[in-house]
This record gives sequence, C-alpha cells and structure tokens, in this order.
Amino acid sequence: MRTLYRQFLLAMLFIITFSLVAGFFVANYLYLTSSKEVNDENNVKVALEMKSALEQMHGVGLDNYMTSIGNIGYQVYVISDNGYEKFFGGKFQDTELPDFAREQVLAGDIYHGMKEFSDKTFMTGFFANELNNTVGVPFTYNDEQYGLFLRPNIKLMFSDVHSILASLLLSTIVISVIGVLWMAKQLIRPITQLTEATQQITNDNYNVSLDINRQDEIGQLAESFNTMVEQLQENDRARKEFISNVSHDFQSPLLNIQGYADLLGMKEITEEERFEYSGIIDKEAKRLSILTKQLLLLTSLDQSTRMMRREPFALHEQLITIIQKYRWRLEELQLDISYSIQPVEYNGDESLLENVWDNLLTNAMKYNQKNGTIFVELASSESSVIVKIRDSGIGMEPAELDRIFDRFYRADDSRTKDGTGLGLSIVKDILALHDATITVSSKVGIGTEFVVTLPK
Ligand code: ADP
Repeated sequence: MRTLYRQFLLAMLFIITFSLVAGFFVANYLYLTSSKEVNDENNVKVALEMKSALEQMHGVGLDNYMTSIGNIGYQVYVISDNGYEKFFGGKFQDTELPDFAREQVLAGDIYHGMKEFSDKTFMTGFFANELNNTVGVPFTYNDEQYGLFLRPNIKLMFSDVHSILASLLLSTIVISVIGVLWMAKQLIRPITQLTEATQQITNDNYNVSLDINRQDEIGQLAESFNTMVEQLQENDRARKEFISNVSHDFQSPLLNIQGYADLLGMKEITEEERFEYSGIIDKEAKRLSILTKQLLLLTSLDQSTRMMRREPFALHEQLITIIQKYRWRLEELQLDISYSIQPVEYNGDESLLENVWDNLLTNAMKYNQKNGTIFVELASSESSVIVKIRDSGIGMEPAELDRIFDRFYRADDSRTKDGTGLGLSIVKDILALHDATITVSSKVGIGTEFVVTLPK
C-alpha cells in the first residue's frame, strides 16, 4: 500500500533533489552572467599586485616567493621567454594551456582565461581546476620577461570557512528532513486511528472513541467522528429495542390467537365460551392489523418515502368530521364532548393530519373517566393555527410525560386499555414533517391537554 508517510517521504526527497538541481542551475547562470567576469577581474588584480611586488623585489628568489604564494592558497604557473617553466601551490587537474595564451602574456598582455572559460562545461566554471581557467599577467624579473598564471586553490579555500558553511547547509537539510518527517508522523497518526475506528464501525462495533485532542482541522474531524459514533450507538440501541418491542407486541396476540383457536376446536366447550373465544381472537387480530398499519406508517415517515402532499384544506371540517365519527363511541363511554372551532384553511397533508387528530381524540376517550368531558378547540392567529384537545381523564405523572412520545411507551395505568404505544410517536413524526410542535400538560386524576401549534 502507498502509505501517506511514504508518499510524504518521497515528495520530500523529490523536493530536496529538485531544489538542489534548480539551485545549481541558478548559481551557474549567475556565475556565467556576472560572477565569472568579476572573478576574473579580482584575480587579475591579485596577479598584478604580485607582479609589482616581484618587480620591486630584491634578494628573495622568484621560486621562494612563488612557493609562499602557493602555500597561502593559489595555484601558480610561471614561464619565461628563455624556457623557465614551473608550477607552484596546488596541482592543476588539466595542465593544457593554449599557445596563444603563453605568447600573449610574454608579449606583455593580460590573459583572461577565467572570463573566456567555456560556457558549455556542465560544472560551474568556478570549480574547474584547469590551467586554461586562470588569469595570466606579464612581469619582468632580473631583466627577463616572465608570465604568471594563477587561480585560487579551491581545495584550500574550502578547507576553512567553506567547510563550516557546507556543514551548516548539510546539518540544516538533515535536521529539516527529520523535523518534517516527525511532523508528518504526528499528522498521519490520527488519520490512521480514524481509519481503524471506521473499520470497527463497519464491523458493527460501536464501542469506539477517539482520543485525539487537537485544536486544528483534524481535531474537529475527530470531534465530529465521536459525535457520529454516539449517534450511531444511540441508533443501534433504538433499533435493537424497536425490534425486540415489535417481536414482543406481535408475539403476545399471536399466542392468544393460537391458544383460543385450540380451545375453539374442543368439543366440550359451551356456546357461550365459543362466542367469548372467537371475540378474543377477533380483538387480537384487529390489534395485529392496527399494529401493522402503524408500523408501516412509522417506517414510511422514517424513510421519507411517503412524500408530503401539502394542499390547502378546511381544517375545521376535518376536526368536526372526526368528532362525529366517534359520536356513538362517546355516548357508549358516557363522555361529554364540546368544542370551539373557528373556520381555518390550512396548507398541509390532509390524510397525515387526520391521523394526528384521530390519535389525540381516541386517547382522550380511552384514558378518560366515567362521565368525563372532552374539549376540542381550533383557533388561528397571524402566524399559526392552534389545536387543543383537553380531557378530564386519568392524567399522567410528570415522569411519564417525558416518555409518551417514545415508540412503544405505555404508562402503567394505561395497560388495561387497548393500545400499541405507537400512536403519539406517529403524531410527533407527522407534526415534525409540518414543522409543527406539540406540548402536553397533565395532572393525575384531573386530566390532560395536548396543544398542537401548526405554523402557517
Ligand atoms: P397507546 O396506543 O398506548 O394509546 P400512544 O402513543 O397514543 O399509545 O400513547 C402513549 C401513552 O401515553 C399511552 O399508553 C398513555 O399511557 C399515555 N397517554 C396518551 N394520551 C393520554 C391521555 N389523554 N391521558 C392520559 N394518558 C395518555
């Protein structure tokens, strides 16, 4: 695998090599365009000073003088017109010198070998240790005509200050490389941790938490990741609980149906018992049917597959129709219903909202008390439509109020009534799709009031 770290290392080596090569070309260009000439001039100046020193010298031999010049850092070649020819100082790698250079200098002219040095050489001419890469000046010594060719001894020059500079450059490069690689490791480590954690999650293991404390973008990424993991853990827990609730809620009516169907098959049961058992089977089958419908509705609300169909409709008519639908049931339960309903046109999903009022109204009936009352109110303000459904029923404890919108939650006092515990969670989901809110206030033994606020 091409690890990030290896890519970083390769990129780093490439950049160093590239910058060295580019730097060399820049230095070479500068040398060829300006330094080369300046270098030549400077060396001619030095040679001319030697020439005047030599011409005024008495007593010290030419060879001795040249040897000390060689010792202080120059490579020297001296010739005369009567055949004298000697090298002093460091050795030249290439001792070829064009004849015209010798003739020119012995004739009294200056030879600018450094300035004229070939441009084609790949290596910077400054370093070329060749005899033709020198400057030559004429001088007279003991009435004889001499030629002095010289160039600085690069080897000697490099042995002092330059070696310090070279080691400075080298150590800077080495320390930078180590530093950058360390930095890269610090950057890559949390990414590796993130990758491992993601793999764990892919394998359904949500018990992972990243221990990355950074203030930068990677820190933010780790924080978002941890939040996502918490959310996934919660979803996983809810999913498992949902599945176990669904299985349980299907299991008990099925067991009842099975048991009572067996009893029905027995010969010795009375007509009365047969009637009772078939009634129970019918009730449990209805319960299963309601449960299935509610689950299907919840799933479609969850997956948003059921697209909202918003259309303006008469909300007041919808509420009155539902109240009328339950009139016989209200009478049966000896409940008194009253309402105050304003005419309101509302733009929403009519059939989904019907589920909301149906649920709230059937709850107000189911959890009511004998001779109880129900009050329904529909009012409209500038920004919202408010629906209130109040009952004088059994009420709820404050702790129960926090949970009534959870799927499958049923308060203990309600267990005796028919129900699935899904009604209010469906209500909550439908209202969320309408950006609406629902609040509840309740007192045990006194009653409950649900207030739905639909934005206009
Ligand atoms: P259920 O099918 O049990 O009615 P819901 O989701 O509609 O399920 O309601 C959840 C629980 O909230 C009920 O089981 C009941 O305990 C409580 N509840 C809902 N409405 C009322 C109400 N009007 N009065 C008292 N308790 C209520």
